[in-house]
Amino acid sequence: MSDILVFEGAGKIYSPGTELEVRALKDVSFALTKGSFTYLLGPSGSGKTTLLNLAGLLDSPTSGKVLISGRDTSVMPEKEKSRLRNASVGFVFQQPTFLPEFTAAENVMFPALISGAAKSAVYEKAKLLFDMMGLSLRAEHYPSQLSGGELQRFAILRALMNDPEILLCDEPTGQLDEENASLVMSELMKFLERSDAALLFVTHNRDLAAASKRRVLHLRNGLLTVAGNDI
Ligand code: ADP
Repeated sequence: MSDILVFEGAGKIYSPGTELEVRALKDVSFALTKGSFTYLLGPSGSGKTTLLNLAGLLDSPTSGKVLISGRDTSVMPEKEKSRLRNASVGFVFQQPTFLPEFTAAENVMFPALISGAAKSAVYEKAKLLFDMMGLSLRAEHYPSQLSGGELQRFAILRALMNDPEILLCDEPTGQLDEENASLVMSELMKFLERSDAALLFVTHNRDLAAASKRRVLHLRNGLLTVAGNDI
């Protein structure tokens, strides 16, 4: 089976049964296959963050199912879910956060070291990624010495350290100029070429999604429609 992430009629209601009730996602079904690139497009408030939180196992649906590698995560104990999240999911946010007192290299390596990976393997992997993405000369700089584009590129490398099966990108180019946005995109493409991961890329940018000819999930008021071709 090549589906890595599957939503089966997933719904999310915040504060159910109260006057603050919000139906953020309604009966959402789709699958992401290994090695695929999919855009998630929708206006503000349409449910994109809610969907990413479910996909990244940061939250659970109130109806339906979210499956990763065929495993139903809605019946998983919290501990196992968090293990699966650490092992399988990478996140890249619009504004990356870094620990300012540590170098870019240290920031990239921390999550892998904390998760118990062998030091030598982590150093080797980080070096390989820095070389591959042309960031070796910047790796020993501190976050305050780096541009927004460089920081975002290091944030991507940090997300790649654990070889995620699913990479969730929340408007990673939203704050960048055209040149840096295109560097970030090419970094993501390089990653996709070398891995079997599925990439879900949230954007407001209709033109970017339309020009790519890739598959696009459209969200509107919590309802999903799918357009375009998968790669
Ligand atoms: P988007 O990322 O597309 O802007 P969100 O997923 O953040 O959309 O929000 C979808 C809807 O759910 C919005 O109406 C939002 O106000 C609501 N919402 C999001 N998070 C919560 C929450 N924790 N509690 C209550 N309502 C929420």
